[in-house]
Amino acid sequence: MSTLKITDLHVSVNTETGPKPILNGINLEINSNETHAIMGPNGSGKSTLAYSLAGHPKYQVTSGTVTLDGEDVLAMSVDERAKAGVFLAMQYPVEVPGVTVTNFLRSAKTAIDGEAPKLRHWTKDLKSAMENLRVDPEFASRNVNEGFSGGEKKRHEILQMEMLKPKFSVLDETDSGLDVDALRIVSEGINRVRETTDVGVLLITHYTRILSYVKPDHVHVIIKGKVAEEGGPELAERLENEGYDRFLQAPA
Ligand code: ADP
Ligand code: MG
Ligand code: MG
Repeated sequence: MSTLKITDLHVSVNTETGPKPILNGINLEINSNETHAIMGPNGSGKSTLAYSLAGHPKYQVTSGTVTLDGEDVLAMSVDERAKAGVFLAMQYPVEVPGVTVTNFLRSAKTAIDGEAPKLRHWTKDLKSAMENLRVDPEFASRNVNEGFSGGEKKRHEILQMEMLKPKFSVLDETDSGLDVDALRIVSEGINRVRETTDVGVLLITHYTRILSYVKPDHVHVIIKGKVAEEGGPELAERLENEGYDRFLQAPA
């Protein structure tokens, strides 16, 4: 089991007018066999947390620490983070011109492991992962994100998680824009990875509906760059009924 530990994390985003503080002291600890939901209203800093963990250059950690089994994640390059097992499925994934899904996944896996996966197993695993996610076989030979529908992008994220087998997977709004069937298929994909590998999932979402399929062990509510409340799955149910209003009231 691995542990990802975020301690008093402060992050500013680089804007044209200078750095703007977004995260104001996030604390969060997740083990590699747990699923944590990160919830919160739009603009509360959820994606900023995801990008900071992935090492996006636009996001500047001004203080605090992130460790993976005691190793300083913030000192690692983006590649080193991926090798260490931290995976971010992008909220708005970019196109990778001229690179097919198959080649993208295989070179990512090779980069992470330091050696190419055995072709026979790899091909078989990829085929079965794609079948499980109900993606057409020709999907493998399409270029990454080129003309992908919203649903295909999300399935590709889960396919990456399934094939790359990270220790920690940050899924940022994987549920947004999915119809009910696609949400179920994507959720089943996440659950399959949870059941078959020792993976920690940080499931970032604005809505509670994905949490009825992917049951979180813990729920953290981020408001204005801070964890405002934490709890078990019942907290998600409460948010379903009450929304975020009570967090957003000005203090009396
Ligand atoms: P969430 O994912 O919870 O909706 P974000 O982390 O995307 O929130 O954004 C948090 C805040 O930081 C918002 O007020 C947003 O406008 C601001 N922000 C995020 N990224 C940038 C950026 N690149 N430039 C300027 N402001 C940003
Ligand atoms: Mg976001
Ligand atoms: Mg978000």
